[in-house]
Amino acid sequence: MGCCDALNLMPVEEAIDKMLSSVKPIQSSLLLPLVDAIGYVLAENIHSPIFVPPFANSSMDGFAVRINEVSRDQPLPIAGTSYAGQPYTDRWPENTCIKIMTGAQIPESCDAVIMQEEAKETAQGVVFEQAKIKPQTNIRPKGDDVCEGDLVLPKGARLTARDIPMIATLGISHVSVFRKPRVAFFSTGDELVALGEPLQTGQIYDSNRYGIKPLIENFGCEAIDLGIVPDCPSQLRLAFEKAQNLADVLITSGGVSVGEADYTKDILSDMGKIDFWKLAIKPGKPFAFGSLPNAWFCGLPGNPVSAVVTMYVLVQPFLAKLAGHTQWKFPESIPATTRTAFRKAPGRTDYQRAIYSIEDGQFFVESTGNQSSGAFRSMSLANCFAVLEQERGNVELGDTVNIQVFNSSLY
Ligand code: AMP
Ligand code: MG
Repeated sequence: MGCCDALNLMPVEEAIDKMLSSVKPIQSSLLLPLVDAIGYVLAENIHSPIFVPPFANSSMDGFAVRINEVSRDQPLPIAGTSYAGQPYTDRWPENTCIKIMTGAQIPESCDAVIMQEEAKETAQGVVFEQAKIKPQTNIRPKGDDVCEGDLVLPKGARLTARDIPMIATLGISHVSVFRKPRVAFFSTGDELVALGEPLQTGQIYDSNRYGIKPLIENFGCEAIDLGIVPDCPSQLRLAFEKAQNLADVLITSGGVSVGEADYTKDILSDMGKIDFWKLAIKPGKPFAFGSLPNAWFCGLPGNPVSAVVTMYVLVQPFLAKLAGHTQWKFPESIPATTRTAFRKAPGRTDYQRAIYSIEDGQFFVESTGNQSSGAFRSMSLANCFAVLEQERGNVELGDTVNIQVFNSSLY
C-alpha cells in the first residue's frame, strides 16, 4: 500500500476518468453567423458545397499562352486582357497571347501563364525569355485547395481564428454550433476583498476569480461571476441554489478542505452528492467533484496556484467534453533535462511550475522557484508544468522529467 492509498487520495488519472465518464456532452445547438462563431464547437460536419477555387485561375500577373505557340524569336501580339472578376470571353486568335492578372480566369485552351517579369512587351507583341515552358505553369486548377463534397471540418471541432476564414472560402455564412456550457463561479472566504477595496488587517485580495474566469472562457464556456461569498453556511447555501438554477456547472474556490470554516463539502453532500474530494495531486489535494440536483460541481482549493492547476488539469477535460469538443487533446508529455533540482516527496503527482527551452533540438527545463501553492509568481513566470510522477522523490540536476507545455488556455 502506497502512502497515497493510506490517505485515501485518488490518483489524478482516475479522477479525470470518473469526471469524464459521468458527463454527457450538451446536445442543444444554435445557428450562428460565421463571424460570431469563433470559440464555439461545431454541431455539424462542414462539407464544401463548392470547388475552391471554383475555376482555374492565374497565380501571377502575366500572359496566358498556348505553349506550342511560344518561341523566343516570334513575338505574340496581345489579343485582350483577363482581369480578376472580368474573364476574357472573346474568341482567342491563333498565335496571340492574353494579358492576365492574378486571380483571373484562365482562358479556354490556355496551358500556361508566363509571369510578367519573364516577358517583354514590344511594338510587335510580347517576347518571352524562355521558350521551354512546363504545362500548367502558374495555373491554379479548379478545386486545387478544396473539392466539392470534401469534409473540411468535423463536428466536434472548436472554431479557431484559422477555421473561420476557411469556412468563409466555402461561402458558408452560418454554422450550427453547440450551446456553450454555462459555468457559474464564486470565491469563498471571510478574508477575501474585491479589487478596488482597501485591505484591512488579515484580509487578502480575491485573485481566484481572475484565474478562473479566463480559463472558463478559454475552455469554450460562458462564465457567470457570482462574486465573493463569506464562510457562512446559509449564504453559501443560497449561492449554491442560485448557481445551479443559472448554470450547468458550479465552480467554487476555497472552503473545501478540513478547516473549521470549510463548509463547501457539507453543503454539497447535503444538497447533492460528492463523488470524491481528496486527490493525489500537488498542488490541489482538496479538490471536490460531485453534483447538485441541477448542475455539476467542482470545488477548487483556495490557494491560487492550486485553483489554476486543478482548473487546468481536471476541469479542462471535463468542460471540453461537456462542450462537445471531441477534438480536444490532453497536453502531450515531452521528456526534458533538468537545469535545476526539483524537490519532491513521493505520494502525489506534482505539477511544478517551470520554464522550458529548446537547444539543438533538445528540451531543457528549470523550476520557476518558490513552489508554495500560495505563491502565484511560480505560475505567472512559467511556460510549462514539470509533471513529477506520483511515486517519484527528489529530482536532481541533469535528470529527465516529463514536461507539459501550456496549451492556449493559459495564454
Ligand atoms: P481554503 O481552501 O479556503 O482553506 O484557502 C486556502 C488558502 O487560499 C488560504 O490562504 C486562503 O486565504 C487562500 N484563498 C482562498 N480563496 C482565495 C481567493 N479567492 N483568492 C486568493 N486567495 C484565496
Ligand atoms: Mg477558506
